[in-house]
Amino acid sequence: MKIAILSQKASLYSTRRLKEAGEQRGHQMKVIDYLRCYMNIASHRPTVVYQQKPLEDFDAIIPRIGASKTFYGTAVVRQFEMMGVFTANESQAISRSRDKLRCLQLLAREGIGLPVTGFANSTKDIEGLIEIVGGAPLVIKLLEGTQGIGVVLAETTQAAKSVIEAFRGLDANILVQEFIKEAEGADIRCFVVGDKVVASMKRQGEPGEFRSNLHRGGTAEKIKLTPEERSTAVRAAKTMGLKVAGVDILRSNHGPVVIEVNSSPGLEGIEAASNVDVASKIIEFIEKNSAPKKTRDRIQS
Ligand code: ADP
Repeated sequence: MKIAILSQKASLYSTRRLKEAGEQRGHQMKVIDYLRCYMNIASHRPTVVYQQKPLEDFDAIIPRIGASKTFYGTAVVRQFEMMGVFTANESQAISRSRDKLRCLQLLAREGIGLPVTGFANSTKDIEGLIEIVGGAPLVIKLLEGTQGIGVVLAETTQAAKSVIEAFRGLDANILVQEFIKEAEGADIRCFVVGDKVVASMKRQGEPGEFRSNLHRGGTAEKIKLTPEERSTAVRAAKTMGLKVAGVDILRSNHGPVVIEVNSSPGLEGIEAASNVDVASKIIEFIEKNSAPKKTRDRIQS
């Protein structure tokens, strides 16, 4: 097969691993910087042009769209979909998962475990918002944040009020969440491919840090999931319409709760911690599912 990896940089670990795994399985792999693609969208024959040449004969694409490039990246993915090219994740599913609030609303609709979460536009409603999540301590998150940046633990109601006011004063969208203290600074990343969790790891924040992000100095190790955690992760990915997803779960007193579903989960941490060749799992999935014209999003919102 001829497979394109849509990525800004061929040297990124995940991109390199996907290319390597595909080549090992006998495929022709090409890394394409989606920001350098341009498109004829009004034609009867939709095309994507890269380095002055139309990209015509690809069987499948693997989108690795950066969080800050969602708008253009998903437009390129959509164009490939219109050309009938199979995509590991569909454009709609990527856009959907990039909106944290929309993501949580859809997961709630499916009855998937979530931390109690509140959202409001006006700072006049702060008290009510704090009440919804059961008061301090609570977690405040910038809707546009990634890698733990913009995730704040407010230990007292007064601190919570100040932080919410400050964020809202900057016109930032935030959500307020119940603090899952019993997670003890750890979360679980479940790597879902198709309808299976193919690898998982537990990430633990530095001592005194409630955020477990590896970018914030957290460490990762292999973990055995409970059947409930496994099914929660698979259901969460399915709800978002993602076929390749990183589902982040906290172990709470009321069972596993999902905090995030990521459409371009990194391979470096998970492959090292779990010892699973995740890149090959993704390629195998594409081999099994990429019959022409199979791309179709079935989620209603
Ligand atoms: P980001 O997308 O920026 O990584 P997350 O929502 O994943 O933001 O939060 C970052 C980290 O903070 C998580 O990995 C987790 O360890 C911790 N965390 C997030 N939400 C909660 C919560 N409600 N209770 C306890 N810890 C949390």
